Amino acid sequence: MRAAAGVRDRLFGPRVSYSRKVFIPLTKLCRDNCGYCTFARAPVPGERAYLTPEEVLAVARAGAEAGCKEALFTLGDKPEKRYPEARRELREMGFETTIEYLVHACRLVLEETGLLPHANPGVLLEEEVRALREVSVSQGIMVEQVSERLLGREMAHWASPDKVPARRLETLGAAGRLRVPFTTGLLIGIGETVEDRVDTLLAIREQHERHGHLQECIVQNFRAKPGTRMHGAPEPSEDEMLATIALARLLLPGDMTVQAPPNLAEGTQPASNGTPPTRGTSTPA
Ligand code: SF4
Repeated sequence: MRAAAGVRDRLFGPRVSYSRKVFIPLTKLCRDNCGYCTFARAPVPGERAYLTPEEVLAVARAGAEAGCKEALFTLGDKPEKRYPEARRELREMGFETTIEYLVHACRLVLEETGLLPHANPGVLLEEEVRALREVSVSQGIMVEQVSERLLGREMAHWASPDKVPARRLETLGAAGRLRVPFTTGLLIGIGETVEDRVDTLLAIREQHERHGHLQECIVQNFRAKPGTRMHGAPEPSEDEMLATIALARLLLPGDMTVQAPPNLAEGTQPASNGTPPTRGTSTPA
């Protein structure tokens, strides 16, 4: 940690940057089944699957009035491949896929409110990255972990086809080829080993060395939330979290910032414990 703090101080000094953003949850439907997820839900009869364009603009305008600069679109991955409700609603609005609608919603927000859209929609094809590039300032996908073991039965990514590591790395590669400013990161404590964490950091580093497009690496800690498959699983300790943040700073190139979400540290770490804080721009993905 001392070595990592030295690298951080040399690269960034005492500077801490952040982005004032409003979250726009375009849809909470998702085709995946991650064991820790508190975001996704099944369709509810009588409720819409997607925010309407008017609702998207209302959230964005409220954010702009509150001083936000960025509109962070959050959504589940490819719900139309799983739910007829999603397919029907998209068709009624004139779209085939969630990504087509996301492109439309980003353009609306950009043109009508001036907020800068950041899109975080999961695994993307190259043409989808290209379409989003026209209407957003940056995009992101968490690699989470490169271990395929986590796709196994009873594991965190069971029955979650968009969590196949190669597909997520390919999305990073597509964004790199198209020179899209990009955010990525790890999720720790979901059944991976320490070696898996290092492999994930090295895979992220390799993508950045090839394309130079990764602005930020988030180190996110698993929290066991009620109502999820992994509600009884052990959470990573503070030491594991701090060690992974330090490893990230030591292994990743100096032009990438490292961020740990402070909201997920609540209740796990004392406000001041003598350890150097992590610095980085804040764009959760
Ligand atoms: S892909 Fe994302 S939204 Fe979908 S279940 Fe997994 S964590 Fe939740």
